[in-house]
Amino acid sequence: MLIRKIDADVLIIGGGMAGCGAAYEARKWGKNLKIIIAEKANIDRSGAVAMGLSAINTYLGMRWNENTPEDYVRYVRGDLMGIVREDLVYDIGRHVDSSVHLFEEWGLPIIKSQESGRYLREGRWQVLIHGESYKPIVAEAAKKAATEVINRVMITHLLKDTLDQDRVVGAVGFDVRDGSMYVFRSRVTILAAGGATHIFRPRSVGEGGEEHGTLPGAVDLRTLWQLRPEQKWFRWR
Ligand SMILES: Cc1cc2nc3c(=O)[nH]c(=O)nc-3n(C[C@H](O)[C@H](O)[C@H](O)COP(=O)(O)OP(=O)(O)OC[C@H]3O[C@@H](n4cnc5c(N)ncnc54)[C@H](O)[C@@H]3O)c2cc1C
Repeated sequence: MLIRKIDADVLIIGGGMAGCGAAYEARKWGKNLKIIIAEKANIDRSGAVAMGLSAINTYLGMRWNENTPEDYVRYVRGDLMGIVREDLVYDIGRHVDSSVHLFEEWGLPIIKSQESGRYLREGRWQVLIHGESYKPIVAEAAKKAATEVINRVMITHLLKDTLDQDRVVGAVGFDVRDGSMYVFRSRVTILAAGGATHIFRPRSVGEGGEEHGTLPGAVDLRTLWQLRPEQKWFRWR
């Protein structure tokens, strides 16, 4: 079997919206880092946004004094019956607008009200977009940011430090087309492999169970519901 070994400063597993955002942010703060995205499909159209979206679920509109991060924390706290990490929610709130502005700068058409010139809203938090090309637009930024994007590699396991089992030092995976094996060694590993559906035991056997990431050995999850694409960009800071 062909085994490819790749070393990286930052390994990003999954090139959906979160993975692309992580690559962009990593490059912003680490100009000389070797940043690798490993994606099981192709980042141009992978993940939940693949075929596009019609809206961005959260935009505060701070430049027009429409909402504040405190308003957003109140909303999320109410929506989730108080079971939230308010510090994280606040952090998402204060950064989300700048992410949306970046998307617009990169070419995402955001629909504007003809009267006010502001983004057109549906409800209090959502803004409407022509989002058919949302993912390719964001993928383009990620491709410029990453040292290399390796498409068609399915990561199956995280690698642990033999001296410290709480520390992830890479991952292994397989090319879904030719079956070759990839071994990544990385200083930082970001797991952005998307929704963690079915991580709970089904109701038939008693709902509940441990919350965890989508790969064995991943960290516990926090505030799952709020993980929207435009919000996750800043979770890695
Ligand atoms: C039907 C639908 C409608 C939605 N509508 C909206 C909306 O209007 N507005 C809005 O803001 N949000 C919307 N969302 C939510 C939004 O699309 C998601 O929150 C967001 O795309 C999640 O991004 P992500 O990067 O976390 O995950 P994903 O987009 O799922 O990306 C995960 C990536 O990881 C890759 N991957 C997974 N496992 C592995 C592995 N083992 N190895 C390598 N790669 C792997 C996948 O191929 C994928 O590319 C919608 C979601 C759905 C499903």
